[in-house]
Amino acid sequence: MDMPSEVLMPPLPLTDFPMWHFMFSALALTWGTCIGSFLNACIYRIPNELSVVHPRSFCPICRMKVAWYDNIPVFSWMNLRGRCRSCRTFISPRYLLVECLVGVLFFLAWLKFDLVDGTRPLGLVAVCDWQLVPVYWLVISGLVLGTFVDFEHLIIPDRVTLGGIAAGLTISIMVPQLHNAAGPVTGLLWSAVGAVSGWGLLWGVAVMGRLMFKKEAMGFGDVKLLGAIGAFLGWRAVLFTIVISSLLGSIVGITLVLIRARRLQSKIPYGPYIALAAVLWIYWGPVVWQAYMGLMRPAGL
Ligand SMILES: [Zn+2]
Repeated sequence: MDMPSEVLMPPLPLTDFPMWHFMFSALALTWGTCIGSFLNACIYRIPNELSVVHPRSFCPICRMKVAWYDNIPVFSWMNLRGRCRSCRTFISPRYLLVECLVGVLFFLAWLKFDLVDGTRPLGLVAVCDWQLVPVYWLVISGLVLGTFVDFEHLIIPDRVTLGGIAAGLTISIMVPQLHNAAGPVTGLLWSAVGAVSGWGLLWGVAVMGRLMFKKEAMGFGDVKLLGAIGAFLGWRAVLFTIVISSLLGSIVGITLVLIRARRLQSKIPYGPYIALAAVLWIYWGPVVWQAYMGLMRPAGL
C-alpha cells in the first residue's frame, strides 16, 4: 500500500503543553510589557536627543519623577486612568498600546519555540533553538521603536537602522542558526547578503521613484531599516517584506484616500509597513514563502 506523501498534522491541543512552557509564556508576556515600557521612554527620548537610561522616568509636563508603583507596565496607566498623578495631564494611550503590543509580540515569539520540531499554535513557524527567541525579541523591539518614532516624527533613528545592521551582523556570528548556517563565518556571510539585498533593493526603488515622480517617494531611513531587517532575517525576509509592505501600504493608503481621511499627496510614513511585514515574517513568513514556491513549481516536480 502506498504511504501518503504528506501527513497532515492536527493542531496541537493545549493539554500537550508542558508546565514549563506555560510558565515561560507568562514570563515572556510580562517581560514584553516591561520592554514595552522601556521602549515608550526611548520613543520619547531618542528623537529629543535625551539619554534613554538617565534620569528616571518623569512627567514631561510637570517634571515630577514617576514613582515605581506608577511605573508598572499596563496596570499603572489603567490605575491612573491615563493621567499624571501630580499634574493630572493626560498621558497618551500610546504608552498602554506599546506595552500591551510588545507583551503580545514577545509572547508569540516565545510560542514559536519547542524542544521538538512540530506544529505550533496559530500556525507559527517552529524553532527548536531557544537562542533564537531573544534575538527575535531584540528585532521586534527595534521594529516597534522605529515604527512609533516614524509615526510621530517621520524619521527612523539611525540607532535603530544602522545600529540594527551592526547588531544583525554581530549576532549572526554568535547565533548562526538565525540563518540556518553551520558556523559563524557562513552566518556572517548570509547576514551580509541580507543587509546588502535589503539596502540595495529599496535604494533602487527609492532612486526609481525619484526619477519617475520627480519627488522623494521614500525616505532613506526606510532603506537603512530594510538593510537591518536583512542583516537579522536574511534575503528571503527582504523580498517578503518588500512585497507585503507595499501591499499593506497600498490597501491602507487607498482606504484613507477613499474615506477622505488623507489627501493623495500627504506624507504617510512607510517605515511602519516595513516593520509590520518583517514581524509577520518572523511568525509566519517561511510558511508563506514555501507555499508560494510550491505554487511556482511546475506540477510533477
Ligand atoms: Zn505631570
